[in-house]
Amino acid sequence: MTPPLLGHFAGGARVAPRSARSAPVYDPATGRQAATVALADLADIEHVIADAQGAAAAWGERSALDRARVLFRFRELCLAHAAELAALISGEHGKVLADARGELQRGLEVVEFAVGIPHLMKGEFSDGVSTGIDMHALRQPLGVVACITPFNFPAMVPLWMIAPALACGNTVVLKPSERDPSCPLRLAELFAEAGGPPGVFNVLNGDAEAVNALLTDSRIQAVSFVGSTPVARHVYQTAARHGKRVQAMGGAKNHLVVLPDADLDQVVESLMGAAYGSAGERCMAISVAVVVGTATADALVPRLAERVRTLRVGLPSDSTSEMGPLVTAAHRDRVRGFVEQGAHEGATLVVDGRAHAAAQGDGFFLGGSLFDHVTPAMQIYQEEIFGPVLCVVRVDSADAALDLCNTHRYGNGVAIFTRSGGAAREFAHRVQCGMVGINVPIPVPLAFYSFGGWKESAFGDQNQHGMDGVRFFTRVKTVTTRWPASADAASFTMPLLK
Ligand code: NAD
Repeated sequence: MTPPLLGHFAGGARVAPRSARSAPVYDPATGRQAATVALADLADIEHVIADAQGAAAAWGERSALDRARVLFRFRELCLAHAAELAALISGEHGKVLADARGELQRGLEVVEFAVGIPHLMKGEFSDGVSTGIDMHALRQPLGVVACITPFNFPAMVPLWMIAPALACGNTVVLKPSERDPSCPLRLAELFAEAGGPPGVFNVLNGDAEAVNALLTDSRIQAVSFVGSTPVARHVYQTAARHGKRVQAMGGAKNHLVVLPDADLDQVVESLMGAAYGSAGERCMAISVAVVVGTATADALVPRLAERVRTLRVGLPSDSTSEMGPLVTAAHRDRVRGFVEQGAHEGATLVVDGRAHAAAQGDGFFLGGSLFDHVTPAMQIYQEEIFGPVLCVVRVDSADAALDLCNTHRYGNGVAIFTRSGGAAREFAHRVQCGMVGINVPIPVPLAFYSFGGWKESAFGDQNQHGMDGVRFFTRVKTVTTRWPASADAASFTMPLLK
């Protein structure tokens, strides 16, 4: 059977591509091609941007309350279709179904935050800033905005962006990952079913060609990006050069620091979920455990190894699976390459995920890998592997652990496990990362806080969602008002208010 062709979504309906370029979309569990996704050319890009541009004025003029009501209905429809959306995510990404359902939930929490937009967009007012003069500031939408998203969260990351963007009155061109485009297309359909007008939420499928066109088109006012650091840097620099505001989140190498007083049972279970959940394909995955003290490391590593060896790797649809396959064969091979490299670099390969029974079949599976005695000079420490590989680095003090976190070029998330409130507080205060967990391995902020890393994990000055999302997707206008009873004489100096 020929795999279905996935085109674009514009003008309130799915549209067939004009471009002849396409890419395969795989079912990672079987290794077979599940669909073909169109890769937009300039004609497709023009069509989609023109639709978004055509809808921008009317959507921006609708009241915030009215836009919120559409988002309310959209949320209800997403919940009604949650099982279907989770199956689409899992079928193209490979994460287990319960995890796919969790990602949808976290994305919908941003929609729930965004339905408060009539309150969130309220401006400021000062009565009588001078005699007979009032001043107020209001927020207005930007127009057409581009949202460019990675493969690892095909529902949550698009929802982080589109919910505040649409609530604020912008129209959206979403360019999802070409690896798993089915869920984003379905989200756009559900938005239209919820009463979202044609042209307000559009999906443009494609690769770098589509991205580069969005970064340089004068009709696109802002670019929200999440993906790897080299692409985030390119997006930030190119879009800024073309006069757009940009938020561009990049890659990560998240450390979990284990102090000698930590509860090791809790550490083992936390590391298992944080390092191997979603096959390590999370920007907040823990990929480095920094263990303070030889005695702590000697006690931790064997317990961890035992648990990694018995990790249940299997079909994403099997409710007993703890971990599914990686997204593509190419990505699986890249991760295998890092395991090979770590062994060459002299780290101790305690568990080799390449040898796992699941890794011998047709799907893109690997078992979990565990390295001990990793040093900061090694590539497996420096690079983002983005797979089920955990590196243990041994240090002799809490200060040395902090120093490692602070000198790594990434600064997305970080965690510390300890029973000492003082040590935890000191660490949280001094660490150079955007999101910190204290006895919490994956400290993803909730929708009413904002998400963003430091250093090479993020470019731009506004985080995703929370009030930063509202600020990013609106611009401020400040109005000064007076109603004089009679004409004043001309003034040739800067106005001095009194
Ligand atoms: P990616 O950078 O390869 O792709 C992201 C998007 O950019 C996709 O839509 C893709 O089509 C597009 N793209 C890819 N190469 C491009 C190029 N050369 N020019 C222009 N556009 C290009 O990322 P990915 O592999 O899909 O996702 C994994 C990465 O995303 C990891 O590095 C992960 O840490 C990161 N990530 C970060 C966060 C965060 O919030 N910091 C969240 C999720 C994922």
